[in-house]
Amino acid sequence: DAIAPADIEKLHVLGHGNGGTVYKVRHKRTAIIYALKVVHGDSDAVNRRQVRREMDILRRTDSPHVVQYHGFYEKPSGDVAILMEYMELGTLETLLKSNGTFSEAQLASVARQVLSGLTYLHAHKIIHRDIKPSNLLVNKNMEVKIGDFGVSKVMSRTLDACNSYVGTSAYMSPERFDPDSYGGNYNGYAADIWSLGLTLFELYVGHFPFLPMGQRPDWATLMCAICFADPPTLPPTASPHFRSFIGSCLIKDSSQRWSASQLLTHPFLLPPS
Ligand code: ADP
Ligand code: MG
Repeated sequence: DAIAPADIEKLHVLGHGNGGTVYKVRHKRTAIIYALKVVHGDSDAVNRRQVRREMDILRRTDSPHVVQYHGFYEKPSGDVAILMEYMELGTLETLLKSNGTFSEAQLASVARQVLSGLTYLHAHKIIHRDIKPSNLLVNKNMEVKIGDFGVSKVMSRTLDACNSYVGTSAYMSPERFDPDSYGGNYNGYAADIWSLGLTLFELYVGHFPFLPMGQRPDWATLMCAICFADPPTLPPTASPHFRSFIGSCLIKDSSQRWSASQLLTHPFLLPPS
């Protein structure tokens, strides 16, 4: 699956992130459009390790709801790049900004697709660890796929502690701060469900749940809210099924939180009869 850098023509930048840049590119011989995530040789060791880990995970996954991997290259200069399918509409974060908040029917469709991706990943012992609107990609058929495996982890044993992640994210679950109070480290998969709950909540109300509209996250305040306050509750416009679904994602005790496959059977996701 190695590709020749000379075969790839960069068209423009799609996004920037931690040490990497994602380009829209064209494969010259086939004229197929892809996305290419490049981490430059002069970026620090952490980023280069992350992009290799991401490549290792993507090349082993095959799910309609995980972004499709198409190859990689590594240049003598140290640049490492991953070629993947191009997702025309960008991410759920950009869709929220351009189109406004999502309806419950749209969110049920998003939830079904992300949960199907998470069920696949968790069955393969992969924890994503960074589920949020800007890491959920959308193509022109409105298919939603999980991307950005930069901080993901493969569990080596079923009861493997999962406390090695040093990054910080507003979508982190209570047990990531305080495993002893919130169900322990042993169900690392549950952290992805918490993050999905906050993501769907945000797409419904239009701003990050724990903070008043427009306020920028102050890390200490946020951590206190996640651990010590009750989980956020939806506005009165939300239907009982939607409310119950979000409640099942945002159970603070990770051992009580619903799994991805359990959530797929929740009434909120069943077609209206
Ligand atoms: P980072 O680790 O830098 O956050 P991401 O994989 O999340 O890297 O990519 C950064 C941004 O690039 C995304 O938020 C999205 O806007 C864009 N992007 C990433 N992958 C694709 C893709 N396959 N198709 C279209 N846009 C993409
Ligand atoms: Mg990202």
